[in-house]
Order: sequence, then C-alpha cells, then structure tokens
Amino acid sequence: MIKLSERISYIKATESPLSADVGLIFGDRSLWLYDVGNNTEVTREILSIDMPKNAVLSHFHPDHTGGLLSVGAERVYLSAYTKKYVGLGETVIGDVYVSDGVKLHIFPLPSSHSKGALGLEAEGFAFLGDGTYTEKKGGRYVYNATLLKDMITRLKSLEATTFLLSHDPRYALPREEVILNLEKIYSRRKKEEAYIDAGE
Ligand SMILES: [Zn+2]
Repeated sequence: MIKLSERISYIKATESPLSADVGLIFGDRSLWLYDVGNNTEVTREILSIDMPKNAVLSHFHPDHTGGLLSVGAERVYLSAYTKKYVGLGETVIGDVYVSDGVKLHIFPLPSSHSKGALGLEAEGFAFLGDGTYTEKKGGRYVYNATLLKDMITRLKSLEATTFLLSHDPRYALPREEVILNLEKIYSRRKKEEAYIDAGE
C-alpha cells in the first residue's frame, strides 16, 4: 500500500494477473475503494483493513472490477453501463457528493477508453482509472475527438491538482501535465475525421 496523504493511499496494479490500481480513501466511517482490482492478494490486503467498505468502479473492465464480490462492499457506485456487466450497485448519472470526514466527489468522465467511466476526487487528488486512455480501433490506438474534447473540459472543471492514472508506473501525475498532453493530442485532430491517432 502506498500512501499519498493522511487519508489517501493506493495498492499498485499488477500485470499477472492483470489487476488495476486500487485507490483507498479512509473516511471517518468507511473505507472508500476506487476500483477493486482482480487479484486475490490485493483482495486480501483490502480485507485486512478492518472498516466497512464502499466501492466506486471506474469502468467495466475486469481488471478493475473482478474482485468486487470478494471485498464485501456495502455500497457500490457505478455507471449504468458498468452495471450491465457487474449486475449490482447504485447507478451514478451526474455528480455525486458524499461526506465521510473527507469530501468525496464522484463524477461521470467522458472517455474514449470505455463507455460509462467514473472518476472520484477527494482532497486534491482525482482518481481517473483508465479514463484518459485511448481505445483500440482497427489495430490503432485512437481518441474519439468529441469525447476527448469533453474529457478535457471535465478535467479542467475538477479541483484536484494531482491526477491518478491506473497502470501508469508513476500513477500520480501533476494535473497540468495530463491536461497539456491531452490538449496536444486534441490539437492534431483533422476536421473531417472523428478519431485522432494517439501515436502509440
Ligand atoms: Zn480499462
């Protein structure tokens, strides 16, 4: 477990089995998980924390959601699209604010990577999951230009100064760096094309 602040930590992603980073926010009453990973060792580490748990799921991919039933979350927040895969939880449509000693802000994130992405910000940190990543289309990594523009607008509206990107070896990146990088990609869009090559 890696500590980012007094109340915020994360458990690193693993590659085999493929399991996304798990964000941990220690509220007064509950432990808030941003994604649950898909690795029994990660699940064990989560269960070793003796607090009631709530979970926010970033998107439907199994490396982010696979451990859900094992962590025993009391409440699960997810998008309608993720719910189609996961089968349970409370659907988040707009911004949701929760107070648990710490102020949590759950928000829909327009994303090329997947439909129904959710972010979570608290105390200057924004968990974004895979939301800022590309989708693979015809063997190429691309951004949907409209979604990328909407995502940049959304990211700029956040209060957080540090963005947390799943699977990234650095994980915690300065907000400006992430936005600048996405704006650079957006500036390469061609008017007649719906997709932008990410050059990966
Ligand atoms: Zn994903």
